[in-house]
Amino acid sequence: MSPALYIALAALAGAAVALWPKMAKASPGLGFGKAKPAAPLPAYAPADNQNTCDPTPKPGTVRFKEHMLARYGGQSWGIQRDCAIGGTSEHKEGRALDWHPEGSPGEMDVGWEAVAELLATDQFGRPHAEARRWGIQYLVWDRQFWSAKNAAAGKGNLPAAIKERYGLDGAGWRPYSRRGNATQEHRDHVHVSLSRDAGQNAPLS
Ligand SMILES: [Zn+2]
Repeated sequence: MSPALYIALAALAGAAVALWPKMAKASPGLGFGKAKPAAPLPAYAPADNQNTCDPTPKPGTVRFKEHMLARYGGQSWGIQRDCAIGGTSEHKEGRALDWHPEGSPGEMDVGWEAVAELLATDQFGRPHAEARRWGIQYLVWDRQFWSAKNAAAGKGNLPAAIKERYGLDGAGWRPYSRRGNATQEHRDHVHVSLSRDAGQNAPLS
């Protein structure tokens, strides 16, 4: 093999390796396969706010945590919260996850890309498909709040810069009003609450 050809082949191999993570990430996590008919999609999660206290992590929430870590890396900052700490939270029913994104080009991009995939329209044209499959009741990230309730009602708004950068539409979003440090504003972790059903049974079908 000539040196020039060898270098050309080596460059091609390098390009394929560089593309691989993007390609792997581009495939949606459900309903994949061109010939398959659409599997039924669960309805949007109901507004199941915490009303009891039983912080033991529920099995569907644990499966969601494992999915997030396997697909997006980062760290779990936990599912459960003691009954005596703070106000109403689905962490106290073991059905909320705090997920801390890590990686390149930066945490904010990694976080938004994961959120965008959870809320993406699937190949059958159904919006928020993964969020419905996982029974996501609401999520909080980067000073923004998304809820299944608002998405189902067709309401929502999201800053134009975020929509453009991450390919999101505004459905289901509103600003998250709480102000404080990065953790309080959810700029260092994505909070996800699952419905009571999904906390036990996610992914739903
Ligand atoms: Zn949380």
